[in-house]
Amino acid sequence: MAKSDDDYDAPTVERRWQEFWEKTGLFEADEDSPKPKFYLLEMFPYPSGDLHVGHMKNYFIGDVLNRYKRMRGYEVLHPIGWDSFGLPAENAAIQRGISPAKWTEENIATSRATLKHAGVGYDWRREIAACRPDYYKWTQWLFLKLYERGLAYRALGPANFCPGCKTVLANEQVVDGVCYRCDTPVERRHLEQWYFKITAYADRLLDDLALVEEHWPRHVITLQRNWIGRSEGMTVRFPVVGVAQHFDVFTTRADTLYGVTFMALAPEHPAIPSLITGLATKDEVESFCREAVNKTEVDRTSAAAEKAGVFTGRSARNPLNGKEIPIWVADYVLISYGEGAVMGVPAHDQRDFLFARKYGIPVVPVIRPADGDLARENEMTEAFQDYGVMENSGPYSGLTTEEGNARLVDDGPRGGWGRPAVNYHLHDWLISRQRYWGPPIPIIHCPRCGDVPVPYDELPVLLPAEDKVDFTPAERSPLASYRGFIETTCPACGGPAERDADTMDTYVDSSWYFLRYCDARNDKAPWDPARVNFWMPVDQYVGGDEHAVSHMLYARFFQKFLADEGLVRDIEPFPYFFNQGMVKARVEKADGSTSMEVMSKSKGNAVAAGPFIAEHGADVARLFITFAGPPGKDMEWTDEGAEGAARWLARVWRLFNGNIAAVRESVDAASLSASEKDLYLATHHTLKRVTDDLERLHFNTCIAFLMDFVNALYAYDDKKSPAFGYALYHLIKTLAPFAPHMAEELWRRVGHDDSVFRDKWEEYDDEAVAAAQVTVVIQVNGKVRGRVDVEAGSSEDEVFAAAAEDANVARYLEGKKVAKKILVADKLLNVVCK
Ligand SMILES: [Zn+2]
Ligand SMILES: [Zn+2]
Repeated sequence: MAKSDDDYDAPTVERRWQEFWEKTGLFEADEDSPKPKFYLLEMFPYPSGDLHVGHMKNYFIGDVLNRYKRMRGYEVLHPIGWDSFGLPAENAAIQRGISPAKWTEENIATSRATLKHAGVGYDWRREIAACRPDYYKWTQWLFLKLYERGLAYRALGPANFCPGCKTVLANEQVVDGVCYRCDTPVERRHLEQWYFKITAYADRLLDDLALVEEHWPRHVITLQRNWIGRSEGMTVRFPVVGVAQHFDVFTTRADTLYGVTFMALAPEHPAIPSLITGLATKDEVESFCREAVNKTEVDRTSAAAEKAGVFTGRSARNPLNGKEIPIWVADYVLISYGEGAVMGVPAHDQRDFLFARKYGIPVVPVIRPADGDLARENEMTEAFQDYGVMENSGPYSGLTTEEGNARLVDDGPRGGWGRPAVNYHLHDWLISRQRYWGPPIPIIHCPRCGDVPVPYDELPVLLPAEDKVDFTPAERSPLASYRGFIETTCPACGGPAERDADTMDTYVDSSWYFLRYCDARNDKAPWDPARVNFWMPVDQYVGGDEHAVSHMLYARFFQKFLADEGLVRDIEPFPYFFNQGMVKARVEKADGSTSMEVMSKSKGNAVAAGPFIAEHGADVARLFITFAGPPGKDMEWTDEGAEGAARWLARVWRLFNGNIAAVRESVDAASLSASEKDLYLATHHTLKRVTDDLERLHFNTCIAFLMDFVNALYAYDDKKSPAFGYALYHLIKTLAPFAPHMAEELWRRVGHDDSVFRDKWEEYDDEAVAAAQVTVVIQVNGKVRGRVDVEAGSSEDEVFAAAAEDANVARYLEGKKVAKKILVADKLLNVVCK
């Protein structure tokens, strides 16, 4: 118990309620419940030995919803687990000689303890860890399912290699040419690697965005759409002059075909060696390719970079006009786009234009603006890239770009020189890694049978103990260093064979973890479809947008594949995605200046979560983080802000001192005096506003409303009034999702035996609230732009806040500075903008 009425002893109170929740199984989710289900999920966290308060934001957002939805009568599944494979554990092992498994389990224990002390309510019976054999057995099982369907394959191809991490990376893990993890510029290497054929699902991944569009942040939809990057066009075949070779080139602008004056190949193009065999240019071309391949993608493709190339000594024939065009190798052409060969149309493509001018290649304009003349080659200072009308294009002259493309798509197959084609920016997902701390790839290489899958009943393929393996990064998997792991017998012929030495990327682990939570202890199958179909899809997903084109895309791909296999019902795993903002904090610079930057240990501005909670209490941290700004926006953590949250909670606590006995669940509204009626109305108005904003995840405004409400209660004279006790009752309920420990303590003192979270969320008195509302007309610079319903007597700021939420009003306010607000009470607000 707290020491006295006057004293709120947060550490004691909080610990006691955390134990109560655990003992009574408050957050255990039950498939047999008659209640409607609500699956609430925060993104799979990496277990950290030192969580800071910035990490806590998405857990707190999730937990506010968790508690609110429970009170609203939902059976809430709110699970947690650990994305616990990956490089940090392995690097710790290399640098400090610690076992990755032990290091990881210690971090899990620390993370778990911090989340428990923060009072975040999870169903701990469902806790999972990707690095444990009872989980990665099923990751391997899923690999084999994909393999069976031809969707997991090994191929020699260009791969992104990070010299820092000493492993290959998926395209999604290369951000602006550097490694997403360590910022080292990524190199391209030709290597044999494992891929998942995500491109087989490209169209569905694109089309099904329509199913989630309404409930995802728009920029995440755009990122995925652009990453998949579907473009329609043609593949045109250019035969090489003098040898039996040809190049297939993808273009979205077949209408510019008569303007092709050269062809450019990527330096990695596999046909280059045979193309230059026996030519005088051979040495020069080879050395150019060697150098270009070692440049980073950014250096090769950025607009500022000088384009470089070399003539191969061969020519190709334009199939439309029969003209011979020189074949060049150019560094700005990437093997990952199209087929690694592009047709150079300098008059109508800016990069081709710069390249042509540099090397004296002709520029032949063939498209004129719809309302203008065809440019003259000598006068062109840049390419004309717009659509227009075809000229100097044989039988196609005079057609518009659209007409021309349609005609060419028809004529290509007939003439045998081209066919309609679709190109994607998305490539197959490279999933093998040359590192130790990941799930081994369950494939055996047999000299007689080739690649043979490990039989299902022999899973998991266990990682060998760390003392057997040499971790030192050496561009090959550490597992290859341990013959006891590698050497095995072939499941097909029984002869000697070798295990695959690579492990899978951690993004494979996080592509299906949300399904495992539905049936976490199943040891016969990855899940029982009935259980998965009960809980899925996730009703609210909370996480950062840094995973928009990696995890969010991979998980959608897995879900669709599993639906095709009949293992799940839904084709989209996360129809509702909320993207939380970051937590920033002050960084002191060497020169004495300060700036606000995203909280991180390396910047020295991280506030460790465990010690903060031990000193100030979890409710203070929760309240401050949810109050400091809209959850979707970045927020700033300041000591003053945290102190403010602590002061306010103390103020709430004092309000109940001496008044606990007055708390009452109901009043007879008809018998209230005029001032009591006002308080009754304020109570329901607060309840309505908090309810509405909880539904919209506007937690910061919920707390602002509660602050106003508490002020009104302090100002209210008659603390003995039933309306006052009634208001206190509702304050406990509405406070509960945000400061759950204090709310429980108050609830208990009122005389309840069970958790406030097993009680219902109160319904507001609709009639009373509606009767007390007025409609205020909103003008922006004197023109009517909307109408909002607000409580009678609302202040200028309150009406403005409501108006700013109106989509139409918001449009007229966007990007403008509010100079003045003029309120005619309960009737009109004119906003004067500059
Ligand atoms: Zn790296
Ligand atoms: Zn064999």
